[in-house]
Amino acid sequence: MTRPRPATPATGISALAGLLVVVFCIAGLLVYEAWSTGRSRRDIAERGLQDYAAYATWSTARMADATVTASLATLFRGLVGTRIAPAAALPPTSALEEGVRYLESCDCALPVPASYYFRVDSRSGEFTTIAPPASGQEAPSGFATAKVGSFAQPGIAVAPSASEKEDLIRALSKQTLPAGINFAVTFARIGDSARVVGFAPQRDSTGAQAGAFGFVAVPEVYARTLITHLWRHPQILPLAITRGMASDSLLTALVSTPDGKEIYRSSGWSAGLRSDTASLAPADGGMRVRVALRPDAVTRLGRGLIPSSRVPVWVGLLLLTGLLTAIILRNLQRQHELARLRADFTASVSHELRTPLAQIMLFGETLTLGRTRSETERVRAAEVIVREAKRLMQLVENTLQFSRAERPVVGLSPERLFLAPAIREIIAGFEPLADTRGVAIVAELEEQSSAVVDRSALRQMVLNLLDNALKYGPREQTITVRLSSLVRQNHVVRISVDDEGPGIFGRSREDIWAPFVRGDITDPPETGCGLGLAVVRELATRHSGAAWVESVPRGRGSRFVIELPAVAAESDRRTDSAPSAVA
Ligand code: ADP
Repeated sequence: MTRPRPATPATGISALAGLLVVVFCIAGLLVYEAWSTGRSRRDIAERGLQDYAAYATWSTARMADATVTASLATLFRGLVGTRIAPAAALPPTSALEEGVRYLESCDCALPVPASYYFRVDSRSGEFTTIAPPASGQEAPSGFATAKVGSFAQPGIAVAPSASEKEDLIRALSKQTLPAGINFAVTFARIGDSARVVGFAPQRDSTGAQAGAFGFVAVPEVYARTLITHLWRHPQILPLAITRGMASDSLLTALVSTPDGKEIYRSSGWSAGLRSDTASLAPADGGMRVRVALRPDAVTRLGRGLIPSSRVPVWVGLLLLTGLLTAIILRNLQRQHELARLRADFTASVSHELRTPLAQIMLFGETLTLGRTRSETERVRAAEVIVREAKRLMQLVENTLQFSRAERPVVGLSPERLFLAPAIREIIAGFEPLADTRGVAIVAELEEQSSAVVDRSALRQMVLNLLDNALKYGPREQTITVRLSSLVRQNHVVRISVDDEGPGIFGRSREDIWAPFVRGDITDPPETGCGLGLAVVRELATRHSGAAWVESVPRGRGSRFVIELPAVAAESDRRTDSAPSAVA
């Protein structure tokens, strides 16, 4: 395909397009910046939440230490700081019972969830078991004391077996407390199970160990009681952060023995939560507490800390900007294309006008100056003038039609036409031009075919096809024009123009219908500006019809077809009427 070069510089449009792309890039950059700011704010918030978890863990462990110490100090308050004579008996069990009662009623420290209390004399091996208080119940038989009140864990009292007592005495004999420490909690294996043992050693005046008072508790119950008690306390996390929300609604915990065996897991615990680990002091049992923020606490505490995601809004804005940029670029491209078409159009039409005008002037001057040598030459000169004038006329009509196509308000005036007579008239007008190349035109026309069509549009369409057949076909060829009515899905009339030229082949078959597009055929060299077929298709389309070129083997000519809606009554039958030769 060859096209005239565009003559309009598109620098302004390109600059505008460049600016738009820059604007889009800036928008993209801004969105990226906003996204990365949001991300770093979220990172900071994440770290903040992790700090909350670490603080809650530390706070829980330290409060647990304080609670256990306060609890033991209250329980053993009559049993510490005094030393007994070397051979004297240990203090009576009532001293411990009094501590238990006080702890139960004072509401000053955590009541111990003991399975039982004990006194053991390490010198004589005497072991006395004291039942824990159970609400409104007598102590189980075998225990030395009666009811003293209620515990948070009633009914867990279990009298130890002989072997358990031995285990307990052995475990206590291994315990040595640092100076200044009068009581402690430890984990010991008693019987088949691990137990929490709280004890206050008794020494004689020489400093030797005389025995101990204490309690035994189930580790799971002990840990649960401790954590539940602590989290009723509102100050695990600072009030400014929790704004009064209860600790157990924000936190969840996992407690294990010092050697790592899990003994308590509060509801809502799961792996992957923001958590931290801390240990209680050795004298408080050395338990390991792992505290985590509950998932919903992250939302509640993080409100204002974690910014809500704006990503959908940013992405939406970016897409919108992209869409607008694309629309504007598309419009700019169209404008550019239009400007180029106009430039092409002007260049081609000027070129096309020059050749016939030059011929007309040449032969006009010859006639005016009386330079013809014979009557035959004079007639020939006049014929050339007429022929070139007709060509000019057709060119002007094509040009006008093309400009009308850009301004659709200029309408057609369709009327019901019997097409055979109309086409015959067009052929008759074209024959003088065909004669100059010794070309014969055969018409095979179905007389009854009619359509609603604009008469001058029909003339222009058929003339353009005839003109091309003449231009691109060989001398002395036969051009065949056919007209038939077809009844298929729709009623249509079909006009076809066949020539014996080189045919259309390859990709050009569709391209040639675009304005200003010309094929590569140059033999014989012919002029043209690539408007003829564009006008044919435009006019056919405006009549709700179609125009195309049929595939014909290379070198066997071309068949150009126009299809128009038929007038129904006339086209209800398929007709293969006999052709009527015009030439
Ligand atoms: P123009 O004839 O001015 O070039 P057209 O739009 O009428 O413009 O035709 C477009 C192109 O289609 C031509 O340049 C030519 O290459 C090809 N063409 C049209 N008619 C024929 C034909 N009958 N035989 C071969 N090629 C044709």
